[in-house]
Amino acid sequence: MTDRTTPTLPAATILGYPRIGPGRELKRAIEAFWAGRSELDDLQAKAADLRRRQRSRLVELGLAPDDASIPSDFSYYDQVLDIAVTLGAVPPRFAHLLDDDGALDLPGYFTLARGSEERPPLEMTKWFDTNYHYLVPEISPQTAFRLSDDRVVRLFLEAAAEGVTTRPVVVGPVTFLLLSKAVGVEETEGDGAAPTAAPPEGFTPLDRLDDVLPVYVELLRSLGQAGAPWVQVEEPALAVDWGVDRDRVLAAVERAYAALATETSRPERPALFVPVAYGPAEDALPVLARAGVEAVGIDLVRGGVPSGEVLGELGDTAVVAGAVDGRNVWRTDLDAALTRLQELEAGLRPGAGREGTLSVTTSTSLQHVPYDVGAETSLDPQLRAWLAFADQKVEEVIALATALIEGRDAAEGAFLTAADRRRSRLEHPGVRRAEVRERVAALGEADYRRADFAERASAQAAVLDLPPLPTTTIGSFPQTVEIRRARSRHGRGELSTAEYTAAMREEIARVVGLQEELGLDVLVHGEPERNDMVQYFAEHLEGFAVTERGWVQSYGTRCTRPSILWGDVARPAPITVEWSSYAASLTDKPVKGMLTGPVTILAWSFVRDDQPLADTAAQVALALRDEVADLESAGIGVIQVDEPALRELLPLRSEDHAAYLEWSVGAFRLATSVAAPRTQVHTHLCYSEFGEVIGAIDALDADVTSIEAARSRMEVLPELQAAGFARGVGPGVYDIHSPRVPGEEEIAELVALAAESVPSGLLWVNPDCGLKTRGYEEVEPSLRHLVAAARQVRDRLTTSTEA
Ligand code: GLN
Ligand code: ZN
Repeated sequence: MTDRTTPTLPAATILGYPRIGPGRELKRAIEAFWAGRSELDDLQAKAADLRRRQRSRLVELGLAPDDASIPSDFSYYDQVLDIAVTLGAVPPRFAHLLDDDGALDLPGYFTLARGSEERPPLEMTKWFDTNYHYLVPEISPQTAFRLSDDRVVRLFLEAAAEGVTTRPVVVGPVTFLLLSKAVGVEETEGDGAAPTAAPPEGFTPLDRLDDVLPVYVELLRSLGQAGAPWVQVEEPALAVDWGVDRDRVLAAVERAYAALATETSRPERPALFVPVAYGPAEDALPVLARAGVEAVGIDLVRGGVPSGEVLGELGDTAVVAGAVDGRNVWRTDLDAALTRLQELEAGLRPGAGREGTLSVTTSTSLQHVPYDVGAETSLDPQLRAWLAFADQKVEEVIALATALIEGRDAAEGAFLTAADRRRSRLEHPGVRRAEVRERVAALGEADYRRADFAERASAQAAVLDLPPLPTTTIGSFPQTVEIRRARSRHGRGELSTAEYTAAMREEIARVVGLQEELGLDVLVHGEPERNDMVQYFAEHLEGFAVTERGWVQSYGTRCTRPSILWGDVARPAPITVEWSSYAASLTDKPVKGMLTGPVTILAWSFVRDDQPLADTAAQVALALRDEVADLESAGIGVIQVDEPALRELLPLRSEDHAAYLEWSVGAFRLATSVAAPRTQVHTHLCYSEFGEVIGAIDALDADVTSIEAARSRMEVLPELQAAGFARGVGPGVYDIHSPRVPGEEEIAELVALAAESVPSGLLWVNPDCGLKTRGYEEVEPSLRHLVAAARQVRDRLTTSTEA
């Protein structure tokens, strides 16, 4: 490199590592602290111990301890919350938590994430197209930025004291602002608990760029003083279309990194490594290079090799290529990855030596995958051989870096094993099943279509006999301690399957009885038998496997264990029919069958990487289609197919939206269109803003759509109306994400509000989402109020039409 003060980049590195602990140690330690079962000191000691063990694990796997190849990316809750707190972007309603220096202690940090009695937490939303959720910083024209936390430096020094030179990781300024929410200045009513005000017209957080940059400069300077050779300043938001002018975003990038690179010079600050993960951002790379950053990171998995023109513009800037997928669990095709790396290398600074200019990494942080395949002792050994979790991916990165520098022979063992395992995967009979493929190939238009809605509506009215504004719930009832205990005892073999089934049937009978007593119109069986709405189906379908320890952080201390969809999907036997039929046998009211939709099953699983998602979706849809047919034959007249993740898989780039919506909507229709006109098909959507997918919601062609709406006070209804939506709709009128019990009048008000935009013949009354995370002490009175509110508005509407 020409600049003598630039340290060499490590040849192999990862963008990040899971943080929650291989045995979810951090989750347990934090939750014990929250529950008052341990002291702050204990928590901090446990976290430090976990960090120490993670660093030594990474060294053991082959990352060098002394060249900044080990990222320092620990977080107690979330990396976006971390940068907000570091920059002092704490909303005024939490100002009382700050000490005299404007700093927040760890309990205060948790309060921002979780809220308190009077103060709502920061909002939470999806991190790009992953199932990880970050906390949304709130930025107003008045937010006073200043370096308010030294944790980044402390973490670096902690590792250095143990002889490990790490690479601090922070969310970069442009991404920080793009991910933030614009708010107005709060009217601090006495105790500062007033709600957040609306932002001034036209204000966006990016307007505050110039105010944020000096704080980053100061942070870099303190890292430089601490002796950090490299810092990873992440800009994943550059891979997304923000609906903001792209030129404005790129101008912000140029301004930001020119400031970071030049306001302090090397070695007063660490060398800047700016990865753009989660997708391609070719246009941003030359901008970063021009601004003077020492290294850029490219996502080679989602984005591919940038054009020669772009590479040519990178000049002396080092490139760190994300060649190993950080989002999936399959062993890398090392030969294909090496070819891509060599292609990239050939495009860089033609004629120049490559020493130190190209390094290998993961496409994203490994926070999206579990730790170690080795921990999965009961997985089928063949499947296990195909998998790479975080630790195996570290080894793959090292093998690629070795091959790139010393030639493929130097890592031949790893390459041969990888090729062998990929071959065994391709040849496995469960991966490609003729009967599944023939069925998908034979699909035609008609398999995606039901009769006209008008015909369906009258057929359904004839059999269902429902009042106007019918009431129902979204499916699950509280998962009580008894249910969970029965399930884990069954898992351990302490409860026979017959005993377990009897316990679940007893629960179903109780839940059906309760719903009759409450006066709900369309009942559910309550889903007690389901550990999780996706894993339950994965356990009953062929082509899926479930892990024992494959936990992945979803948000804060919440982890999920995604299933692994490895082969062609088939349904060996009906899954839900017995449970639903049993519930139906206990009541004269209609009972709604309950299925998880194909898109949601894919979104919350690790999916295969050897065929387009659309093909996998069609296979899952066909399995569900058989379940719909069987439910119908068993006399279940209402069937709900949940798609809460429909919005989540929406691609980051708008040019990819249409293709995605086509196959995702198609999969739902394929699953449901087997239903006869008299069978009422419901769907349920939640966890997101629906604006961008309104047209798709209509295209699902469900007879009834229940949709989260309570917190936003029915905001989605005018949007649906504007899109011409004219089928049944149940906007949620009870916010189940809070333990609060809504009163009858308050629910009645929301129902009346909904009745203004939905004709009463199409309006349903239901909660926002399933009730599984709540307790009966809240659910019972809330549903009682919900039924009473529906009756109240129903009576009002019928008297006004009679009058
Ligand atoms: N039927 C599911 C339930 O009630 C739906 C859950 C969801 O939308 N996330 O639990
Ligand atoms: Zn929901």
